[in-house]
Amino acid sequence: MDILRLSSHSDWITARESLSSGLRIGFVPTMGALHAGHLALVEQARQTCDLVVASIFVNPTQFNNPEDFAAYPLDLENDLRALDSVGCYAAYCPQVAEIYPDGATARTMDLGGLDSVLEGALRPGHFQGVATVVDRLFDLIQPDVAFFGQKDYQQVKVIERVAALRGGLPHIVACPIVREPHGLAMSSRNRRLSSAQREAGAAIFQALRFAEAELQAFPVPPRALKLEMRRIIQESGVLQVESIDFALAHSLTPITDGEAYLDRYPEPVQAFVSAYAGDVRLIDTHRIVSEGYVPDTEV
Ligand code: AMP
Repeated sequence: MDILRLSSHSDWITARESLSSGLRIGFVPTMGALHAGHLALVEQARQTCDLVVASIFVNPTQFNNPEDFAAYPLDLENDLRALDSVGCYAAYCPQVAEIYPDGATARTMDLGGLDSVLEGALRPGHFQGVATVVDRLFDLIQPDVAFFGQKDYQQVKVIERVAALRGGLPHIVACPIVREPHGLAMSSRNRRLSSAQREAGAAIFQALRFAEAELQAFPVPPRALKLEMRRIIQESGVLQVESIDFALAHSLTPITDGEAYLDRYPEPVQAFVSAYAGDVRLIDTHRIVSEGYVPDTEV
């Protein structure tokens, strides 16, 4: 394996000193248990950067459920091999004490309210934990560009905000969702699914695509559409829907009016689903209205 394993920040400083200056550094933060979705981020980073650093760190401050943290899969040796296979230059695998020298608590950052809507309302404190760790990782790695997956759509918005608070660096690139052939969005948590749960998981994306197709055909009101989506997801009897939300895709303003037609908003509309398969929480998201409404102007 050629990949450099960085156990501490000083390993990275040493590695950087041996490199020529001015290289464009791409960064892919992860929590490990890697799959093709993560590797696609590295591949996209390689296309525009001179070298790519990934991090593997299961961040304690973004888990609002301690059991979820305890059950989070770890697979370091396979992860390093996988990163190596896609040409990742280095993997930063820090200890908790290096990331949180004053103890593992999240800061309170001004995320402009992005942290308290949608997924943030369901997982209080989650996005402050994400913002805290990513800000710290940006400090330590000092990348030029950082790559994130649209699977965690709201997270991308939060990170864009973090980058803005840092004066616009690193540049943030949002990459497409990578899915299993039958449609389930890839996730490290999918390792904990039985084969029946994995099969049933496909219904989440079916429901999202159904919503998109319905809205292309007729102006369905959100309340009715959500009921149909819920029915599609729950039909197999394996998944339990936690939430189905629609929001304006750029500002992330939740759409709360159950009757107002979704094609009448000034922004595209993004749908968000969270559902449980046993105790495994699955999330997915999809653009269901691709363009915001532009009112006719009177001549
Ligand atoms: P995680 O290890 O789950 O924290 O994810 C690390 C990064 O990989 C985040 O930017 C995620 O959005 C991204 N990611 C996770 N799953 C996928 C996927 N199925 N497709 C694309 N990106 C993903």
